[in-house]
Amino acid sequence: MLSSVWGILVILWLPFDLILLTDPVNHQIAASRLLLGGVLLMIAWENHQYTTLKRAQWYMALMVGSINLFYLYTAWVLDFPTVYSGFVYGYTLLPIVHVAILTILPVTLKESLCMLAVTAITQLLVDYLAGHLLNPENIASYWLQNVLALMVVWSQLSKLHMLMRLYRQATLDPLTGVYNRRMLLQLADKYLASCAQKGQPFSVLLFDIDRFKRINDSWGHGVGDKVLKEFAHFMQQHIRKSDLFGRFGGEEFILFLPQCSSCDAERMAVRMLSRIRALEIETGIDNTTIRFTTSIGISNYANGDSLSSLIDRADRALYDCKDAGRDCTRFHPVGYTPISSERRKAIA
Ligand code: GH3
Ligand code: MG
Ligand code: MG
Repeated sequence: MLSSVWGILVILWLPFDLILLTDPVNHQIAASRLLLGGVLLMIAWENHQYTTLKRAQWYMALMVGSINLFYLYTAWVLDFPTVYSGFVYGYTLLPIVHVAILTILPVTLKESLCMLAVTAITQLLVDYLAGHLLNPENIASYWLQNVLALMVVWSQLSKLHMLMRLYRQATLDPLTGVYNRRMLLQLADKYLASCAQKGQPFSVLLFDIDRFKRINDSWGHGVGDKVLKEFAHFMQQHIRKSDLFGRFGGEEFILFLPQCSSCDAERMAVRMLSRIRALEIETGIDNTTIRFTTSIGISNYANGDSLSSLIDRADRALYDCKDAGRDCTRFHPVGYTPISSERRKAIA
């Protein structure tokens, strides 16, 4: 949005280049202005739909860089004038631009300081080459710009912190710090769509801590909570960056494995079982520790599957694990006869 506004404004100044400046300077500046406008509009076009954070950061850097280059080029073409006429009004977009960028975009401290530094260096370079780096008017202007920019950075950072806090509250489980169910399903939907489109495998592991109620009943809810936290922490340390893990509810957790076949998923689940079995949790009562086991229901994407049908199969596989005595994994292929509701009640 900001890029498109700047793109249009930059191009709108074109007639003034041609009227206010003399030949051939006016044509050189008009051409570079058209180029800058084009770059800014291209950035706006490239980002008008869904974009990744990394891409947006690169485009933001390109936007700041191209505006700085334009500033430098215009000053150079105008032979670094000491007395400005049109220059003051038409070409000194720079400080306004960076403050506007800082105000509008939710940039981090590092990003805003980088933008400020690049802009400040360009501005100082132009003033140095023009030979009036230290004239009193300029010093007052640097001071004002920097105070303004720092105030904006400070207010942006507070806004960013508040946004992050709200984001965490809305997306993470408060006890374990992993994704909550809502966020998990939202992200998994995207992962699944991408794998299905590319014809890549996609597996689901549904974890359920065995006899968790007993832990609560024997050691209290505090120890139960600790088990959940340690389990979530352990899982986060043992998964790939591209995997998606979160709390599905109560003592159930889910792990989505993009680009992972059912064989790999089963192997991984078996490995996880033995590692979880070896985990020791300090109860904080008389130096005692406890161990626990888990059951893992597995399913794998097949043509026509939706996220809910995949999770449903993993859930049925989980019941098979409980039926088989817990601390084991089961895979539920498509078309497998589901466990009867009477049997489910009996297991529960
Ligand atoms: P199974 O092996 O069949 O899974 O038995 P289970 O005892 O693990 O399963 P059940 O569904 O009977 O009990 C789950 C318990 O998890 C009941 C509930 O009180 C407890 N629970 C759910 N959420 C939390 C939580 O956030 N903290 C604690 N401490 N307990 C929780
Ligand atoms: Mg359960
Ligand atoms: Mg359980």
